Amino acid sequence: MHVISTSSKVNNSEHLIEVKGLVKYFPVLSRGIIRTKRIGWVHAVDNVSFHIDEGETLGLVGESGCGKTTLARTILYLIPPTSGTVYFDGENVFEVFKSGDKSKIMELRRKMQILFQNPYTFLDPRMTVKEILSEPFEVHGVLDKEKITDAVFKLLDMVGLEPYHADRYPHEFSGGQRRRISIARALALEPKFLILDEPVASLDMSIRSQILKLLIKLQQEKKLTYLCISHDLNSILHVSDRVAVMYLGKFVEIADVETIFKKPAHPYTKALISAVPVIDPKTGRERIILQGEVPSAINPPKGCRFHPRCPHTKDICKKREPQLVEIEKGHLCACHLVSG
Ligand code: SF4
Repeated sequence: MHVISTSSKVNNSEHLIEVKGLVKYFPVLSRGIIRTKRIGWVHAVDNVSFHIDEGETLGLVGESGCGKTTLARTILYLIPPTSGTVYFDGENVFEVFKSGDKSKIMELRRKMQILFQNPYTFLDPRMTVKEILSEPFEVHGVLDKEKITDAVFKLLDMVGLEPYHADRYPHEFSGGQRRRISIARALALEPKFLILDEPVASLDMSIRSQILKLLIKLQQEKKLTYLCISHDLNSILHVSDRVAVMYLGKFVEIADVETIFKKPAHPYTKALISAVPVIDPKTGRERIILQGEVPSAINPPKGCRFHPRCPHTKDICKKREPQLVEIEKGHLCACHLVSG
């Protein structure tokens, strides 16, 4: 079993976020009458490395259950990692949390925020919007009481809501408005890095585009850095500078958004891209239908994890795991049949 890395406290890299060899396994337990036994591990995130530069948006795409949300929560230490390292602005995030230093932990929590997938679950239905938006200031003690109301009105204005919305409860809003309240809350403490977990899931098309536009506008105004997670490649392509494709706990391809869209190299990415609707039918793009379901992360397939569903599987794919290698500048792919 892996142990948490003891790598250095400070990293000299110029990237705002640097993730190195991140692993998160969950135990699979069998409960007997007398005792509970561990009978395996769910390989939710398996040796993932990447970076995000300041002001950049990295899109992270993959089917449901591929480990995207676990990766996001592990980066923020909302769930502890099995091994690996995350640096934020040169600081080792896991070391800070393990140190128990409350002021440093609060500072990291302020700078690294997450916009949770479902606003219903984290906007308390018994609290007014004013109370919801005041809470981060109160918990972190960053504003005097008399200044908090002004700050709440500024947040509402920032996300396109009106001052009178402050006295209403979450159930009185539409899905799009609730998403705006979540964004206001996530940005209340002026973070530098924001994880967007399915930011437009279950919204209508026109509302999706409004929310994505708002997120892009706020990123430019506040120089934010985003990790945007979605199973919907269409949304990812709209907001991202680069895209990482995840399959069964591993990254299989990373490239800038244009390369991923026009020249995907990995067979899984090609299948995802082929499902994105195109306006011009002359592109001649054929839909690739993948066979079967995503295999279980408890016993991932040997060799290339994608081989049971890949239309190009060779013998080597079943025996040897392909590594994520640079096939051209800034374009990484993990496939035996793709080389630079
Ligand atoms: Fe398909 Fe083999 Fe490439 Fe995996 S390594 S994606 S199975 S061709």
